[in-house]
Amino acid sequence: EVKSNPNIQQQRKALPVYKHRKRLLEEIRKHNSLIIIGETGSGKTTQIPQLLLSSGMQGGSGCIGITQPRRVAAVSIARRVAQEQGVQLGSQVGYCVRFEDVSTSDTRIKYLTDGMMVREAMRDENLSDYSIIILDEAHERSVQTDVLLGVARRAQSLRKLKSQTPLKLLIMSATMDADKFRKESPANEDILVFLTGQEEIEAAVMTARQVAKQLEKTSEVHPPLKVFPLYSALPTHQQLEAFKPSPPGMRKLVLSTNVAETSVTIGGIRHVIDTGVVKVRTHHPTTGLDVLRVENISKAQAWQRTGRAGRESPGKCYRTYTNNDFERMKEMPVPEIQRCSLAGVALQLLAIGVDITTFDFMDKPPKEAVEVAVGCLEKLGAVKGSPPQLTTLGKTMSLFPLDPRFTKVLLASVEHKCLEEALTVIALLSGESVFTEPPAKREQAHAARARFASMEGDHVTLLNVYRGYMGASQKKPWCHDNFLHPRNLEYATEVRKQLAGLAERANLERASCGANTESLRKSLLEGLSDNLAELQRDNTYLTLSTRQPVAIHPSSTLHTSRPQLVLFTEVVATGRCYLRDLSVIDSSWITTK
Ligand code: ADP
Ligand code: MG
Repeated sequence: EVKSNPNIQQQRKALPVYKHRKRLLEEIRKHNSLIIIGETGSGKTTQIPQLLLSSGMQGGSGCIGITQPRRVAAVSIARRVAQEQGVQLGSQVGYCVRFEDVSTSDTRIKYLTDGMMVREAMRDENLSDYSIIILDEAHERSVQTDVLLGVARRAQSLRKLKSQTPLKLLIMSATMDADKFRKESPANEDILVFLTGQEEIEAAVMTARQVAKQLEKTSEVHPPLKVFPLYSALPTHQQLEAFKPSPPGMRKLVLSTNVAETSVTIGGIRHVIDTGVVKVRTHHPTTGLDVLRVENISKAQAWQRTGRAGRESPGKCYRTYTNNDFERMKEMPVPEIQRCSLAGVALQLLAIGVDITTFDFMDKPPKEAVEVAVGCLEKLGAVKGSPPQLTTLGKTMSLFPLDPRFTKVLLASVEHKCLEEALTVIALLSGESVFTEPPAKREQAHAARARFASMEGDHVTLLNVYRGYMGASQKKPWCHDNFLHPRNLEYATEVRKQLAGLAERANLERASCGANTESLRKSLLEGLSDNLAELQRDNTYLTLSTRQPVAIHPSSTLHTSRPQLVLFTEVVATGRCYLRDLSVIDSSWITTK
C-alpha cells in the first residue's frame, strides 16, 4: 500500500471545499438532489467524494460515482485521489473509461466518463451499485452528461417506487470565473498552451523540443525546457506525464487541447498561451455529416483559459488573437446535444427503455436532429415502428460502445465472413492515427507509408499496417522503422481485444477473409452508406446524398488515384471539406442492395 504524503494532506485542508465541508455534508444529507457550483480549482472533483466517503454517507457497499466528460480527466483525477487517500489505484479509488476498467467491487470512489455511466444504466436502469452519483463539469454540457441527468433522475424515481436505497444526485459545475483558488505557487514558471488537436500538438511538440535543445546550447538564462503533449487520445500514462511537477531547475511546457480548460489541474502553470480556437465535432442534420472543425472558442472559454495562469503569484495569459476577435466570440459554447449526431444516444436510451422522442432533456435537441437520429437507426435496422422499438439487431448493437454505424459494420462483416478484419479496422479507427510524420523526415515517412498502401483505400491500408505489426517480433523497432506510433498501435490492439470480447458475447462468428478484402469494403458500405462521394467531370467530388463539394484528404492513399466512387469515414473542415479514411466502392454493390 502507498502511504499518503503529509504535504498532500496539508494542501487538501487549504482548499475552499474543506472550509465549507460541514455545510456541504449537511446539505447533501438533507437533499437527494443538489447543485454545487464553485470556482475551478476549489476542490469539488477531488475533495467532495472523499468527504462523502469519510462521512459514511455512501453506505456500506455503496459506490460514489463521479462522471467526467473526458477520459483524461477521469484517469488523472482518480490517480490524484488514490494518492491523497494513500491507496493503490483500482482498489478503494478507481476509474472506468471506454475500453479500460480500473476498479473492483471494493471500489468506493469511482471516476467514470459520462458515457460509461450511461452504459452502466444500460446494464441496470436502477444504477443499484451507486448510492451517490456526481455529474461533474455540468457546465460543459457534453451530450452524455445531458443524457445522464435524465437517466439518473429516472433511476432516482425508480428506486423510490421500489422502496430501494435512495440515490443521491449531485450536479457540479464550475463558475465561469477563473480559478481563484490555486494555492500552490508555481516553482518554475511552467507554460500551458492551448491548441486544437493531436496533429497540431504533435507538430508543435517536435518544434518546441528542437527549440529547447537549441536554447540549452546557446543560452544560460533559460532553464531547460521539458515539453509535454496532452490530448485525450494520448495513451493514459503519457497523459499523466504532463501532470508531474517539473524537476528542480527545469521548466515545463504543456501543449494541450481544451481538456486543460476546466476539468484537470496541471500544477505549476504560470503562463498561458491561448490560440483562441478549439476543434469540435458538429453534426449537420441537413447533410447528415459529422464534421470535425476548428472553431473560435467562446468568451467564457477564453476566460477559463486565462484563469489557468494561476492567481497567487502573478500569472500571464497571452492571447494570440486581437481584441476585435475576442469581441466577436460567442458568450458561451453551444451545448453538444444541439450540435452532435444523436444516433448513438438514441440507441443507448432505447436500450435503457427510454424513448428519445419524449425523453426529458435539460435542453431539448432540435426536433430534426432527433428525427435524423431515429431515421439513421431505422436505416441500420436497429429500430422499428413508432414509437421506435429496438430490434434484435439493435439490441446487439447497443452492446458495443461505438458509433452505431461502426457497430453495423461489425455486424455486416459477420455476413461477409470478415469479422476479424472489421474488428481490426474499427479498432484502428477508434483511436488516433497510427502514422507518424516527423517534419524533418517527411519523405522517409511517406516512403514507409507507401509500403502498406492499398489501391483499395485507407481501410485496407490500415489492415496491412496491423497485419505487419502483428507479424513483427520486435514491435517497437519495427514501428520506428516504419514511421508508426507504437503506442497508438498498442492501444488499437487493446481496443480490438475488447471489441472481440463483446463480439464473442454476442455470439458473432469470427471468420477471416484473408486476401479477399473486397468483403471488408462491402461491410464498411453497410454501416457507412450515407458517407459516399462521387467523382465529377471536373475532377472534384460531391457527396452522393447531399451533393456537397468535398476533396480527398492528402493523407489518403486515394488522393492521386481518384476512383469514381469512394466511401469516407470522416470529414475534416479546414477551409474546404476534406474526406479522411476512404475506401473504393463499386457502384454495383449499391444497386444490388
Ligand atoms: P475543482 O473540481 O473544484 O476544479 P479539483 O478538485 O479538480 O478542483 O482540484 C482541487 C485542487 O487540487 C487544485 O487546485 C490543485 O491544487 C489540486 N490538484 C488536483 N489535481 C491535481 C494534480 N493532478 N496534481 C497536483 N495538484 C492537483
Ligand atoms: Mg472539477
